[in-house]
Amino acid sequence: MHAMVLAAPKTRLEWRELPDPIPGPGELRVKVLACGVCRTDLHVLDGELPEIKFPIIPGHEIVGRVDAMGVGVEGFRVGERVGIPWLGHTCGHCPYCLMERENLCDHPLFTGCTRDGGFATHVISDSRFTFPLGEANESVALAPLLCAGLIGWRSLSIAGAAQNLGLYGFGAAAHIVTQVARWEGRKVFAFTRPGDVKGQQFAIGMGASWAGGSDETPPELLDAAILYATPGELVPLALAATRKGARVVCAGIHMSDLPSFPYRLLWEERQLVSVANLTRSDGIEFLRLAEQIGIVTKTTAYPLSAANEALDDLRCGRFEGAAVLVP
Ligand SMILES: [Zn+2]
Ligand SMILES: [Zn+2]
Repeated sequence: MHAMVLAAPKTRLEWRELPDPIPGPGELRVKVLACGVCRTDLHVLDGELPEIKFPIIPGHEIVGRVDAMGVGVEGFRVGERVGIPWLGHTCGHCPYCLMERENLCDHPLFTGCTRDGGFATHVISDSRFTFPLGEANESVALAPLLCAGLIGWRSLSIAGAAQNLGLYGFGAAAHIVTQVARWEGRKVFAFTRPGDVKGQQFAIGMGASWAGGSDETPPELLDAAILYATPGELVPLALAATRKGARVVCAGIHMSDLPSFPYRLLWEERQLVSVANLTRSDGIEFLRLAEQIGIVTKTTAYPLSAANEALDDLRCGRFEGAAVLVP
């Protein structure tokens, strides 16, 4: 197999030839058809997450075909198209697993972070954390659903029944969430980097009612806001744009430090919460809904060997929607 390997934090990924991996009990070997590039991959690259296993093959928005199966795998067949998300494994017996909050498992494995991911021609997955994808839609178009879509969906659920929904950072997740929110009859207010007129036009094109810079005041108060962008300074700005009782959801795995802000911004039962990872039921629910709604993703495809360029372009906001690597 071939893979783009990250040997150490803050280095470039390297193209390597590796021995073909053998699936263990309960595992699948999946031939990768497409793997999305997510902001979390930048945090892996920068060594900003505490438990990264170096050297690591990043990538956790994987669409591929089952290529080989370990003993004891049930419910899959060779050749079937599947998706592999960020949550790669849970222990099944910690208090969080037992209370159906496996997204908070004490002993998890995360694809492309603590187990090898999909910036490769082949990947090993735990079959219990692999979703059948069927044959509808292109693999490149499906890849961003596996994280941007799933985390977007979980953050939207946690935002609650908000009519006026603010989205800070209009990238892969927000462009999917906007379609779900519009389908549910909500109004979306999109916040981009100040002055990013192209990004604002993209948001309007995807169905947002209003788009402006993150430093702007929206024309109506928000019932909830979701932050996909990582500057901590956005938290008080988002709180200030909300009405009483609103919820502000931080959806990223990493944010810069939150600045201190006056208590009155949180007062009146506003809530500030974070969203961590996903559960398998999020995946099943969202993938079903995405097909029902007919979610359309905007993607830019790169060859696998151009993973570094795709990551650079993501960091600098050089494309709309999501980047996807194709082996
Ligand atoms: Zn657990
Ligand atoms: Zn991700």
